[in-house]
Amino acid sequence: MKYIGAHVSAAGGVDQAPKRAYQIGANAFALFTKNQRQWAAKPLTRKVISDFKTNCKRFGFSSDQILPHDSYLINLGAPEEDKLEKSRAAFIDEMERCNQLGLTLLNFHPGSHLKKISEDECLALISESINLAHQAVPDVIAVIENTAGQGTNLGWKFEHLAQIIDLVEDKTRVGICLDTCHTFAAGYDLGSKEACDHTFAEFERIVGFQYLRGMHINDAKIELGSRVDRHHSLGQGTIGWDCFEYIMQDERFNNIPLILETIDPEIWKDEISQLRKLSEKA
Ligand SMILES: [Zn+2]
Ligand SMILES: [Zn+2]
Repeated sequence: MKYIGAHVSAAGGVDQAPKRAYQIGANAFALFTKNQRQWAAKPLTRKVISDFKTNCKRFGFSSDQILPHDSYLINLGAPEEDKLEKSRAAFIDEMERCNQLGLTLLNFHPGSHLKKISEDECLALISESINLAHQAVPDVIAVIENTAGQGTNLGWKFEHLAQIIDLVEDKTRVGICLDTCHTFAAGYDLGSKEACDHTFAEFERIVGFQYLRGMHINDAKIELGSRVDRHHSLGQGTIGWDCFEYIMQDERFNNIPLILETIDPEIWKDEISQLRKLSEKA
């Protein structure tokens, strides 16, 4: 089964998200459980938590079809002690919110070294941050998103992802979300079926599909290997439909949230239905 959806708005409360996903024909969705540009958030009320769970049931979403995304401010590999502490506390809070909502995945960007520490040191801090979060909150899986490699962001090479996982103690609670735009920006070609074969074989060899817990399905506005993060609508960018058809017809992408973060929410419904058709051809 392919779980296809989009990153929907949680305006008015997280309990509003499942209906929005349902209305665009999705059987998966992503959301922020708090304002993604702020550190602090009011705790979720008992009412919002219970309404969220009721709406998920009503519109047919289980926790393996939902991929919450954490705040953009968090840097789990931050070189400075105070920033690292703040990030770790905020990440634990995000995990706790997921846990309260009955969600089992939390998607996050690994972190940045800001040219103040080495790549290895930064990756080790990220692993330690995940270990601390695991100790603080039960059940939720930390899902590391690969990045475009913009600035000093790590996690764009598959080796970075493998290195983070290597130092995580509870490997049952760490996973990967591959973003097609980021993968392409990082220099892994997805522009044809052959290129997809090669890139996903590299992922299998270096990381392993057993860790794949979600995908972000985005076309790109940028060239292969440009290390810049610019999403585009499906089929309108430099990646093209071959890649999305490949993913829809390959069983390795079954039963994990496949989430659009494409630039025009007005056409998400169409994009989802096109993806669904491709998956049914398989
Ligand atoms: Zn993404
Ligand atoms: Zn992106």
